[in-house]
Amino acid sequence: PPASDSIIIVGAGMSGIMAAKTLEEAGYKNFIILEASSRIGGRIHRGDVAGNTVEMGANWLFSGGPKTSPSMTIAKKINLRRIYSDYGNISANVYKQQGGLYEKHVVESALEIADERDAFCTNLSKTFSSENGRKDDDISILGAQRLLKQVPRSPLEMAIDYFYNDYEDAEPPRITSVRTTFPRFEEFGEDSYFVADARGFESVVHHIAKGFLSFKSNQITDPRLKLNKVVKKMSYSKDKVTVKTEDGYVYQAKYAIVSVSIGVLQNNLIEFLPNLPGWKSLAINNFDMAVYTKIFLKFPYQFWPTGPGTEFFLYVHERRGYYPIWQHLEKELPGSNILFVTVTDDESRRIEQQSDQKTIAEVMGVLRKLFGNKIPQPETILVPRWWSNPFYKGSYSNWPNGYSQRLYNDLKAPIGPIYFTGEHTNSSHLGYTDGAYFAGINTANSLIKCFKQ
Ligand code: FAD
Repeated sequence: PPASDSIIIVGAGMSGIMAAKTLEEAGYKNFIILEASSRIGGRIHRGDVAGNTVEMGANWLFSGGPKTSPSMTIAKKINLRRIYSDYGNISANVYKQQGGLYEKHVVESALEIADERDAFCTNLSKTFSSENGRKDDDISILGAQRLLKQVPRSPLEMAIDYFYNDYEDAEPPRITSVRTTFPRFEEFGEDSYFVADARGFESVVHHIAKGFLSFKSNQITDPRLKLNKVVKKMSYSKDKVTVKTEDGYVYQAKYAIVSVSIGVLQNNLIEFLPNLPGWKSLAINNFDMAVYTKIFLKFPYQFWPTGPGTEFFLYVHERRGYYPIWQHLEKELPGSNILFVTVTDDESRRIEQQSDQKTIAEVMGVLRKLFGNKIPQPETILVPRWWSNPFYKGSYSNWPNGYSQRLYNDLKAPIGPIYFTGEHTNSSHLGYTDGAYFAGINTANSLIKCFKQ
């Protein structure tokens, strides 16, 4: 029988690493970490575009609130280069479907209404969670817009609405819960800092890992971390867990912590034996895994506006979310001539399934409308495919309207010796690296409590 303190952690993203660190520091060192890919960091993932570091996954750190977030604290400690994202001048950079800019004052009034809707959602969320609020009260962001009689209708209003909501939640306002989504940034603030460091955002996770796992010349060599181990099957009973990996190995322990994304769980990429109980499957499959895609394009030279106040521009199209939000990396990667566009949800899924050539053709169709027919073709395109990737199946979770606190408790609950963690299990920072950070600590602490009983 496995040792009474043995633990298998599945996944070495932020939450799995934090769970391991918490166990180690509490004196529970008898764990192994099984990670499917060849690296740690998970959805914090450095990418490369013609020799330039870009972030395929998590990109922004937040500050300006009453507390400093843990990932920001580490970023400061390791001097991670980060650049303030200035959205202040967006009203001067909104393009019409056929090209040409909207007049500034027209965009400004649409932004004012969007601010009003945000404030309304924040207040609603507070009344829902106040002492007099009813426990399960909730509404979607779209529902709240209806209550306020401020439903976006024109393509411009839709583009602004997308910028306020989908750009953060990666799902439309029709879906997202007001109660849990607002106020989004109360604790750590909403000043966004774009990580632009050759080491990548993932060096934050490396820094944490090196604090408790043994390493040699920057490589983690701790035998407890096992890379390229794709967990396929977890059999469990009251007193042990048996884990099978794709390469035919079998591992046994008294307990397990599963840190894979909710997308992986929803796609049954790990088989549980016996099957997870019905109430648990319901909680897993009712939650949402959203898709958020940054498409990076490197051009031979800049043909877009540069200088202060030009960093972000919006493209308005009758098809909501069609190549809507653009950013140049003039400050982040000077001289790289890299531009990127963010898409989400159905557009992400559509684009993941088509060839990069087709995507280039679509993107060029948009850019020619904005900057003329003489612009050059991109030299390189990078389209991260988070939704198709069997180790993620999406980018991050989103709380859908109608999903109750009771279901959420079920989502987080252990099943026998199997504990669940990951960004999706931390409601106060759901979807963010800080959510994964706290989730790992909390799950490990629940297990430690169980050890002590
Ligand atoms: P993961 O990082 O997914 O870790 C789980 C690990 O399990 C992975 O390493 C995976 O490879 C492994 N795994 C999966 N299946 C198996 C298996 N069968 N066997 C073994 N191992 C397996 N957050 C922010 O704070 N700011 C941002 O700007 C931001 N932007 C984002 C943009 C994108 C495109 C994406 C994808 C995410 C973004 N996030 C952002 C969210 C943030 O990256 C995540 O919330 C966080 O990194 C999740 O950590 P985790 O440990 O919960 O999950």
